[in-house]
Amino acid sequence: MKVLVVEDEKQIAGFVRKGLEEQGFTVDVCDNGNDGYTLATTQSYDVVILDIMLPGRDGLSILRNLRKQKNTVPVIVLTARSELDERIEGLNLGADDYLTKPFFVEELIARIHAVARRASGEQLSILQIDDLTVNVITREVKRGARTITLTAREFSLLEYLLRSPGRVYTRTQILEHVWGYDFDPNTNLIDVHIQRLRKKLDAAGDAPLIETVRGVGYRIKRAD
Ligand code: CA
Repeated sequence: MKVLVVEDEKQIAGFVRKGLEEQGFTVDVCDNGNDGYTLATTQSYDVVILDIMLPGRDGLSILRNLRKQKNTVPVIVLTARSELDERIEGLNLGADDYLTKPFFVEELIARIHAVARRASGEQLSILQIDDLTVNVITREVKRGARTITLTAREFSLLEYLLRSPGRVYTRTQILEHVWGYDFDPNTNLIDVHIQRLRKKLDAAGDAPLIETVRGVGYRIKRAD
């Protein structure tokens, strides 16, 4: 497991490096935000440990930019006891966990294992049928080499159908799961969205992915 530690307090950086290396981790340490950002964006890490107050770019700005670039590397933020607002902001910006200083290195190691485990589970969150791939983390949808842009609702609808290919979902089920309605608004809401989704998914010559099951509902075809 390869870990990046961005921490300017030498003593903390030192004991973290020692503790992680004793556990067999490969550790890169850097003491300022600019180098930290460069490393985080050019190297591949399993986990990034990010201090908030840093010379150069601060930790939250690094985190914000990583997430803006759809970089999903697990991030654990280190905060001082007084930095409650930063801690909350860090979590809002997409930090996976935080640790308040001072801490035991054993605790950091436990958190690293936990976020890395979660992240590897999330990597499985790529749903695929034929040449359609849907990444439910980055919300990227592709058919072959073609990138497809969906609205949030269209994405939820597609994701829902893809959770169980071949299974027919009734309009009531779709309304409940995708729209959160527990009533039928008596409109062609679903049909209109299915039409739009089909238009985006199927380019000329593509085999249609979504099937209408007359009188019942819709399903996405099973993989060939
Ligand atoms: Ca610091």
